[in-house]
Amino acid sequence: MSARALASALHMLGLGLVLVRINHGQKRPTYSGWGKDSLGVIRTPEDAHRELTLDGREWNVGVLLGPSGLLSLDIDRDDLAREEFAKHGLDLDAMIAVHPHPTQAKGKKLWYRLPDDLDLPGVRAFQLPNPDNVDPITGQPRPMTIFELRASPRDGSKSVQDAAPGSLHPEPEYRHGDAHPHPRYYIWSADGAPTTREDIPEAPQALLDLYQVLRPSPDLAPRPTARRRSVIALPTRSGARANSSARYAAWARQHVNLCEIMARYRAVDSSGQCKCTHPDHPDAQGSMHVWRDHATCFGTKCRRNDGRRHTEDAISVTMRFEGLTFLEAVAHLNGGNLPTEEQLPTEWDEPVREEALDAARVRNAQTDWTALVDAAHRALLDQGSDQALQVMDYLYSRGFTDETILAAKLGVVDTSVPDSLLPLNSKGAPSRTWRGRLVIPNLRPDGTAMDVAGRTMQPKPTDSRKARWYRKYAIPTRPGGYGVPPYGLAQLSRRPVLVVEGQLDALSVRQALPTSNVLGIAGIGNLNPEHVSGLAGHRAYLLLDPDTDHDAGGAAARSAIDALHAAGAEVYLVPKLVSTTDDLNDCLVGMGQDDFAELLTTCVKAAQHLPAPRPAAAQLLAQPQRRRWI
Ligand SMILES: [Zn+2]
Repeated sequence: MSARALASALHMLGLGLVLVRINHGQKRPTYSGWGKDSLGVIRTPEDAHRELTLDGREWNVGVLLGPSGLLSLDIDRDDLAREEFAKHGLDLDAMIAVHPHPTQAKGKKLWYRLPDDLDLPGVRAFQLPNPDNVDPITGQPRPMTIFELRASPRDGSKSVQDAAPGSLHPEPEYRHGDAHPHPRYYIWSADGAPTTREDIPEAPQALLDLYQVLRPSPDLAPRPTARRRSVIALPTRSGARANSSARYAAWARQHVNLCEIMARYRAVDSSGQCKCTHPDHPDAQGSMHVWRDHATCFGTKCRRNDGRRHTEDAISVTMRFEGLTFLEAVAHLNGGNLPTEEQLPTEWDEPVREEALDAARVRNAQTDWTALVDAAHRALLDQGSDQALQVMDYLYSRGFTDETILAAKLGVVDTSVPDSLLPLNSKGAPSRTWRGRLVIPNLRPDGTAMDVAGRTMQPKPTDSRKARWYRKYAIPTRPGGYGVPPYGLAQLSRRPVLVVEGQLDALSVRQALPTSNVLGIAGIGNLNPEHVSGLAGHRAYLLLDPDTDHDAGGAAARSAIDALHAAGAEVYLVPKLVSTTDDLNDCLVGMGQDDFAELLTTCVKAAQHLPAPRPAAAQLLAQPQRRRWI
């Protein structure tokens, strides 16, 4: 139940606005077909109660601009927007000052009432060329959006919406000294929410005139996702290898001023502070300090996987923001070509690797996670910290029962768990990034742990590059081991095995079907020889994530299935439980345990057998045709 969103929705309905259900913690609806045929649309209090409690889940709420008769002014760059507004006779600061606008930490949206007879077709954007962001292929500066005037047709034929007060913002708030990020909500500005529709200001004529001269927003066009190819001419492999990356790094430290480079991507203040460049650190305060040759983030929550502070140099910043490789970035910093032999320093420091090797040896000696698992489990049951409360709330919200929490020995690394029990990082020091994480142990039948997964309580990243940080593993070194053993491997018996993508999904299936054999894997594409040998001779039912290419012909699935066949496993593909993108845990939460168990059983019974290719046929197919019978 989203009490906050529901209360806000009822208030906004009182202002004559038309609303739409948005996924919790998102800025926009991510379910398909929203707005069409009134899907997710909220016009009455009854609609609000129905939509915002749908599936017993939490939801955000947005305002449908067209049907609400609103024009929304969304400002990305205050300074440049102010200049442009002044040209049109508008005083942006005065407009903001009198407006009861909805706000969140970073941005402002000013909603204006449109005259009843005015219907605006879509979003208009004001953009300027960004001299600091030049397309290396065309040599032209890329445009940056200064502000947008957002609107949509009143008849709802095209839907444009703004996330509204009462909604949970996608990015949590980091407060200094707190172990956990805090949820951040969209709220009305400090001067208070409008109480009547008339409290929403009418759109000034000058703003409507401005709308008419702006161009349709390019944001509505699909964005290219492919990484762009570099046109910088790089030396041949052998030539490039002749110089070490440390020598280029030394060159950059001596010849490139990082303060200038950083200013292209971040607003650096006079004391040299800017917002952190780490993709997982939504840094409102500006915790990064920039020097000529390096930059370091001093945010307390911002550490690399090895426990050290996040630092950048001119090359890493350029790689990050321009999407370039190391050598491309060096060339980019040198005006398009790699520095010549004469330009490169004659003396430079090679990185020291010996220390890291020792640390790795210490880390690999850590093989028993049972003490950590027991302490974390006790911490969760004691509920003596905010972190423990948060993890328990999360587990309950994901439909897990006390029995599952006890049987799976789930835990939390809260302050009661001493540093000495934490997995070590690559420097051999306790890895504090484990603090606050939900601990999911992979148990042996005797209750000891063969490995441990730690999952942050932050929203799941949509960017797969962040997934590494989202989930951490402590893995013992085993002779012939291939990373993380599949969850449940040690408890496998000879019955058919349900192979489930995702650890919490595997836990959901085990809870619903307690007598079944469940094996949790990271992804069907990650099956390694160890997983395969664990499944040898078993009947394996594959329950793939809805995101995975469900068609057994998908390349990753195909090679995994071939490997299973080769190991003598019988392979069955279980059809998707529901036609949405919901994963198995979502199904457990949405339909309750009994219905979920029933649906699961039905689907497993309907699984499609994927027969192993007969050797003779496979050989024939593999051979080029030599003979023809005419
Ligand atoms: Zn940071």
